[in-house]
Amino acid sequence: MSTVAGIRFKVTPTKSPVPAAERERRLASPGFGRAFTDHMISIKWEVERGWYDAELRPYGPLSLDPGTVFLHYAQGIFEGLKAYRQPDGGVAVFRPDANAARFRRSSRRMALPELPEETFIEAIDLLLQHDHAWVPSAPDHSLYLRPFMFASDVGLGVHLGGEVTFLLIASPSGSYFKSGVKPVTVWLEEKYTRAAPGGTGEAKAGGNYAGGLIAQAQAAREGCDDVVWLDAAEHKWIEEMGGMNLCLISNKGGRPTLVTSPLTGTLLPGVTRDSLLKLAGDLGYGAEERRVSVSEWRDGCADGSIAEAFACGTAAVITPIGEVRSAHGGWKISGGAAGPISMKLREALVSIQRGTAPDPHHWMRKLQL
Ligand SMILES: *Cc1c(COP(=O)(O)O)cnc(C)c1O
Repeated sequence: MSTVAGIRFKVTPTKSPVPAAERERRLASPGFGRAFTDHMISIKWEVERGWYDAELRPYGPLSLDPGTVFLHYAQGIFEGLKAYRQPDGGVAVFRPDANAARFRRSSRRMALPELPEETFIEAIDLLLQHDHAWVPSAPDHSLYLRPFMFASDVGLGVHLGGEVTFLLIASPSGSYFKSGVKPVTVWLEEKYTRAAPGGTGEAKAGGNYAGGLIAQAQAAREGCDDVVWLDAAEHKWIEEMGGMNLCLISNKGGRPTLVTSPLTGTLLPGVTRDSLLKLAGDLGYGAEERRVSVSEWRDGCADGSIAEAFACGTAAVITPIGEVRSAHGGWKISGGAAGPISMKLREALVSIQRGTAPDPHHWMRKLQL
């Protein structure tokens, strides 16, 4: 933890909050990332001053000089985490300390200043104190929190940013799956890559997404929902799926085992991935971090040693994979249905997040409202 003293936040509540009836209308079917709450947090940073001007203020547009560094050179990072309505009516955030730590690691990679972890968490607490009415209570609904930071100084010369802006916004989020959890079909991407050794793949940086959209478009043309990224050196090892980590359930020796790629430096170290590795152990399954090649995946599905596959991340928790397609044909997984072990893991994690199961790892930060 950083030793920097807590920053004082100025609080400027909105004079025109969204009326309760309209808010409830938006919460009824929020989709993802379309509606935003009444407030946002902003903090500024300058080389000489450090962090300053921390403020809760009305949600609204930014005014940026067209020469702002981020608009040209993409020096920026983001995070994504969720607040969940609890059975007692309270609100709890899932593992904000893990996101705060990852935000600092992403900052280091993108040559941005490191926001103290306690300030990151204080910002979330403060926003939720004002906007907790926006945390939906329907099952599978949540309030998605989006902290982000970018080089906000002005100048077209490529340089180390002297001025940075941190913002935190929040958006009610509905069920990822409209009619129950449904397996997706994925495209094995053998031409484009997401991340290379030494690159920015393990930082949560927007540019990683921009570079992947062309493969996303190709996947859609092939009738697929998402892209499976392979390693950049050999195009052989499975790394991630779109903006989620990839997991398999192997059956070797009769014991279900969660298998996922180790954090090689080209993968984003997902908080969901980390949580599921721990939960797999709690549920009596095996948990292995090792590299899996495309041929092991394909052959394992054919001979039954790999029973299930899914992607995991904050937005959808667990997304089962029912079918893989590639330029050289494809294959089905668990007969195209959601696998039972995947669904047990999903249920275990979602129950902790919703506060309906004990929280042995102390992952939930309960808000003092
Ligand atoms: C955010 C992200 C993930 C998942 O991380 P979580 O912390 O589980 O949400 C996985 N891969 C990429 C590329 C990501 O950006």
